[in-house]
Amino acid sequence: MKRTSRPRTHRDAVLIGAGIMSATLATFLSRVEPGWRIEILERLDRPAAESSNPWNNAGTGHSALCELNYTPRGDDGRISIDKAVQVNEQFQRSREFWAQLTREGELTPAGFIHPVPHMSFVHGELNTAFLEDRWGALHEHPLFQGMEYSDDRVQINDWAPLLMDGRRGTVPLAATRTPYGADVDFGALTRQLLHSAQCTGVTVSYAQEVTHLTRLDDGSWEVEALSKINGAHLRYTADFVFIGAGGGALPLLQASHIPEGAYYGGFPISGQFLRCTSPAVVARHDAKVYGLASVGAPPMSVPHLDTRIVEGTRSLLFGPYAGWSPRFLQHGSLFDLLGSIHPRNVRPMLTVARDHRDLVRYLVEQVAQTETARISALQQFVPTASADEWELITAGQRVQVIKQVPGQGGVLQFGTELVSSSDGSLAALLGASPGASTAVSIVLDLLARCFPDRQPGWSAELDQLVPTREVSLSDNPELAHRTLQGTAEALGLWI
Ligand SMILES: Cc1cc2nc3c(=O)[nH]c(=O)nc-3n(C[C@H](O)[C@H](O)[C@H](O)COP(=O)(O)OP(=O)(O)OC[C@H]3O[C@@H](n4cnc5c(N)ncnc54)[C@H](O)[C@@H]3O)c2cc1C
Repeated sequence: MKRTSRPRTHRDAVLIGAGIMSATLATFLSRVEPGWRIEILERLDRPAAESSNPWNNAGTGHSALCELNYTPRGDDGRISIDKAVQVNEQFQRSREFWAQLTREGELTPAGFIHPVPHMSFVHGELNTAFLEDRWGALHEHPLFQGMEYSDDRVQINDWAPLLMDGRRGTVPLAATRTPYGADVDFGALTRQLLHSAQCTGVTVSYAQEVTHLTRLDDGSWEVEALSKINGAHLRYTADFVFIGAGGGALPLLQASHIPEGAYYGGFPISGQFLRCTSPAVVARHDAKVYGLASVGAPPMSVPHLDTRIVEGTRSLLFGPYAGWSPRFLQHGSLFDLLGSIHPRNVRPMLTVARDHRDLVRYLVEQVAQTETARISALQQFVPTASADEWELITAGQRVQVIKQVPGQGGVLQFGTELVSSSDGSLAALLGASPGASTAVSIVLDLLARCFPDRQPGWSAELDQLVPTREVSLSDNPELAHRTLQGTAEALGLWI
């Protein structure tokens, strides 16, 4: 095919990738700078087809109501709640943003968010003691009020009958339940945000894969994209570039050659879920139930049984089962991992390979798992589960961040990492947890970091969109209560 190259098109901002992160950033930018020409470039032919697709993630509105890895027990025996409080506050900011857009008629929450109680569920004496202590540390906190604890099988059966149907034995069990959790379809939310942004002039171009990023003499960027439709090379110039390419962000960060991105590497972990659509089974469960991770398992592999509501239909999801593939995107290339290894990140990557033998062993075991083993893991949650009612589906691809840390060589990190150039003209988002739930806090952080001089002019609009963006809700119980109540009313959630 003959390749054609076109003259450059200038944009104030180019956002790479049409997932939840770019959709959220585009919405903010179009509000604080209505005159800007903003372009989103997406390599696939539709939005939210990678991690933000509802079947590629678990749709948990991560607020640490049920995720036990956010409340470790310290060496002194006490439960640390700092991380849980931080994650919860980040989710409240997302709720505020979605609630404000809903009040303005830009979003329809029934299409993307639903009330689903969040539960934790554990077995054994040590774990039930941990859960009771965790509940003790959290339930009076303004953001966790309403959390209930029980080690009574009748009560747990009342909360989640599917967990108890057919359960035998006398091993101690315990659960906590918070009624006001949420299930979020981040794909539907992405589409709604993009639709609203397009109405204000943001352009979204599909089937354009960004291949090169070049710094120009005047400090702006040249963004080169390949049309997947006709092979044309398209060229844009932009004053600001956001690499919101999910798993594809690392290669593009490397292509930008900013010194801040030089020592990063990535380790891909794929996943699978079991999905049940049988109406009789689905009807017996209304909760997101998180357990404890097994030894060596990375934190995002904590098993959970989720009620999902996607396009108005309820189903159940269990997993994730970890897997391994060298691809950085579900629709990526087998050479993604190899291509990301450079002289500058090889040392941190080797250190991580040496220090994480438990993880490697865990992944090997997971990849080798048979269908019987997968169903047996599910039966820890749903004792009556039968293989013919659950189908295996492929989940999204995560690229865990490997970064160089002075004195430690390389560390493997399970959270997200925002990397930006010193002049704020380019930013990239690496990693995936807690992910989509915290998109609003990530974007607020990005705006503060990349556009410090514009903050005074933007603050009124930002305050309108996220009123508590600079306030600690934990330190203001009354404000926390009002915020939770206000966003619950706007979004149709429980309080
Ligand atoms: C198994 C799993 C479970 C998860 N569970 C949850 C959960 O319960 N709750 C939660 O909040 N988060 C969860 N997450 C995390 C969440 O899904 C992600 O953090 C979030 O979707 C990332 O959004 P994104 O926009 O950065 O990336 P994506 O949604 O992956 O979008 C990136 C886009 O960039 C495009 N792209 C890539 N390279 C290029 C290129 N070169 N040129 C143009 N376009 C490009 C891709 O095609 C894609 O459309 C989970 C993730 C996984 C994998």
